[in-house]
Order: sequence, then C-alpha cells, then structure tokens
Amino acid sequence: MSSAITRRTALRFAAATCLTGGVAACGGAEASDLGLPLVGPLAPAPRRILIRGATIVSMDAKVGNLTKGDILIADGTIAAIGSQLDAGDAEVIDAADMIAIPGMVDTHRHSWEGQLRRINPNAATLGDYSNATHLSFAKYYRPRDIYVGNMITALGCIDAGITTVVDDSHNSRTAAHSDAAVDALLESGIRAVHVTGAPVAGDWDKAHWPGNLARLHAKYLANKPAGLLTLGVMDAFPKLETDQWAVARELGAVIVTEFIGADLAAQLPDLHRKGLLRSDNIFNHCIGLPESAWNILREAGVRVSVTPRSDAHYGIEDGMNAWQKALEHGIRPGLSVDNETSYSGDMFMEMRVAFYLRRALGHGGNPDVAASTNASRLLQAATIDGAATAGLEKRTGSLTPGKQADVVLIRTKDLNIYPVNNAIGTVVHAAERSNVDTVIIGGRLRKRDGVVLGVDQAKLRSAIDESRAYLFNAAGYQPDPFSESFKPLERT
Ligand SMILES: [Zn+2]
Repeated sequence: MSSAITRRTALRFAAATCLTGGVAACGGAEASDLGLPLVGPLAPAPRRILIRGATIVSMDAKVGNLTKGDILIADGTIAAIGSQLDAGDAEVIDAADMIAIPGMVDTHRHSWEGQLRRINPNAATLGDYSNATHLSFAKYYRPRDIYVGNMITALGCIDAGITTVVDDSHNSRTAAHSDAAVDALLESGIRAVHVTGAPVAGDWDKAHWPGNLARLHAKYLANKPAGLLTLGVMDAFPKLETDQWAVARELGAVIVTEFIGADLAAQLPDLHRKGLLRSDNIFNHCIGLPESAWNILREAGVRVSVTPRSDAHYGIEDGMNAWQKALEHGIRPGLSVDNETSYSGDMFMEMRVAFYLRRALGHGGNPDVAASTNASRLLQAATIDGAATAGLEKRTGSLTPGKQADVVLIRTKDLNIYPVNNAIGTVVHAAERSNVDTVIIGGRLRKRDGVVLGVDQAKLRSAIDESRAYLFNAAGYQPDPFSESFKPLERT
C-alpha cells in the first residue's frame, strides 16, 4: 500500500473515531500516531516462480498427485504442473522436501474478533459466546479496532496455510468500520470474501446499512480488474433479509446466513417456491434441520459451511456438526473456524475435529463412516469444496493450470513430520502451522522459510495491545489470564 493510502486510511480512522463518539479518546489522536498500515508495502509478485520437486497433492482429478513434480507460476496464475519444467527466468523454490497443497479456504470467520482470541475458552453456549463479543466489546469497536481484528485474523490464516477467508463481518457499525475491515484484508494480501453484516447489539449508524454493500462494491470492485477481494452480505441472525439478497444478486455478491434450527428451516419451502434459494447462498452451521430442509438445500444448490469445533464447543443444537448430513444429501460442504474467541484459527484442527467426532459417533466397521472421514475427503473440504462454497472454485481451491496460484508448501523434514509415509495423511493428521514453510497467494509470496512476509511484528503487537486496552476499558472488563468463565459485564 502506498504512503498516500496509509495517510488517507489513518485520517479516516481518526475522523470516524471522533464521529462515532462512544468511549473513544479521539481528541488527541493524530493520524501519525495510529501507525497504519501494519503490513507492507508488500513486495511485488515475481513474474514467474517455479516450485521444483515437490510432492504435489493437487485436489484436481485431471492433474492427479505427483510424487515429485514442478509447479510453474506465471503472472499470478498456475501455468503448468509436471516433471522437469523449464525454469527459464523464474525464481526457483527448491521444494524437494515439501508437500504442495492448494491454499486452504475458511468458509466462515468473524475476523473482526481477532484481538479477543481465547478470551472465553470455556464458553458453553451461543449466549456465552455473545457475552464476550456482541453484547460487550463489539459495541465499542472503533474502525481501527475492526482493522486490527481483521489484520491479525488474516495474518494468522496466512501463517497456517489458509489463503482464502470468508470474512463474515457482523459488526459493520459505520461505513468507516466496514472500510477498515476491507482495508486490513487487502493490506494483508489474503484472498477474501468480505461479507458485510449489521451489528447485533448497541447503537450504530443504521442509515449506512441498507446501502453498504453497494457502496463497498462501487468503492472496491466496480471498474477494477479482478483481484483478491470479492463481496457478500450477511443476514442479521436470526432474521432473513431477502431485500438484501436481491441487492447482493445484482452485484454478484454471495449471501451468508447463520442457519440453525427448525424455525429457520420452516421458512425454506416458501423461499424455495419463490426461487430465492440458489448456489450463491452460503448457509453456516446447518444443524438441527429436518430431512425436508436438507432436500431443499440440495435441490436449490445452496452451499453449506460446516463448523465442527464451533458447534461442539458452544453446544449449538445437539453439538454435532452437519458434515455427514450434508454428504448424505449430495452436498459437498466447506469447513470453517467461525471465530477464535475460544479456540485456535487453523484448518488442520478443523479437519481433525470433523474426523474424530464423526468416527466417535459410530465407526463400528461401518464403511460409510470410514469413507466420509477419509483424510483426502477432509482435505477436499478444506480446499476445493471450500472454494466452491465461497463461490471461488474457478479461481482457487486446487492446483490446476489456469487457476490463481494459491499454493502452500509443507516441510517434511521437521521433527513432528519426518518420515512421510503418506502425504495426505501427513497433512490432515499431523501437520500444523509451524510446518507451513511457504504460502503463495495469487502468485505473491506471503510466507517464506516459515515467516509471514512484510509484517512489522513490534508495530503489529503494539496496535493490538492498544486496541485491546481500549476495548477492555470501554466495556469495563478486568483482564484475568486464569479466568474460567466470562461473566456478563455490568457496564454493558
Ligand atoms: Zn458464525
């Protein structure tokens, strides 16, 4: 990002902080004090990169898997996959001790909550989760807090090999908050679907809301070449806002709904009759649905984002995620982390939790269970099926010539990995973020030799610390690193 954008972004934050009032101490905030951006400027992408000698797990049936192969990237796109490709003038990455997989896709993350990581590790219900987010800190978020939350979430994703995130941003309190979320995603270099959503609690600028998606589209996408950003709109849980759906469809944006339980399911037949359910709908969770609802979702082509940890952790409905239900009804779901306020933000864990919950429910020699919890089936959900869920399967999700170059290299020589007797088993059952050596997004190197590039760590931590201190003070929260529960706060 140029220094001009840096200054403009910083000034807008300062102005919006003052305008939205609240507890923000805006009086003395000079733009130069805000220290933005926190990442970059990022180095330009090399015109050509050759990944040499990797074990390639392509997630593309036509390409297949290669024990040793090369991936040639040109102008941000995968140009060729094969053996002994000519490097020419390409920057060569020696991947002889690496497994190459497509960048992973998190199909549902509330990125703005990034600075609240693990603040409520024992939360047992959705209400408990909301106490530590929507009903407390969310009301006091300034645009810069949204920026900081989104930034640390996006960087955490990149670090762990997630190259695409569906950012379900249900705290868009003003246009400036919304812009801050998008600016952070763009500056981080992640591929993102920014899904704007109305706040759940507190006072906010309701005048900005009905037109916010169109405003974002005009500002960030219209008349611009396709980049890493696409957009969506989110229903205000638990209300379906089909007038917003129509706007989204005019703009080619996706529509995200937190879809849980019988009450919402009861609305499906009418929506289906009216032709309102389509493949641009992403329904999160999808638990507690009757059989008839699943049949409608399949018929309409609705996309499903399964949340193994969130459902179990917060006891949503019976706590058992919809992985198997979706598969049984011919739907290939994506996986998602949902939030980091109780647990970690990586897809390795999400795949494993889906695997073990399903197997624990009744393996008993049942071949259906074994087949659905096969390691490659889970990696498919974390990559190509996630990309399809996000509406991005033509751009990402597999190592396919012609697609954008979103590639993750996993080191095989590390002490927790070596020796590799099964490549996909290693990725799904053993790898973790520390084994992610290299991350390439749209042909741009974002992590190399185990380090996320372009991040001033001290500046990043100081911005996070400032945001956290402000939010804790505003909401009247006394930090306690050993707390076993998050009690509702008197001030909120
Ligand atoms: Zn959610």
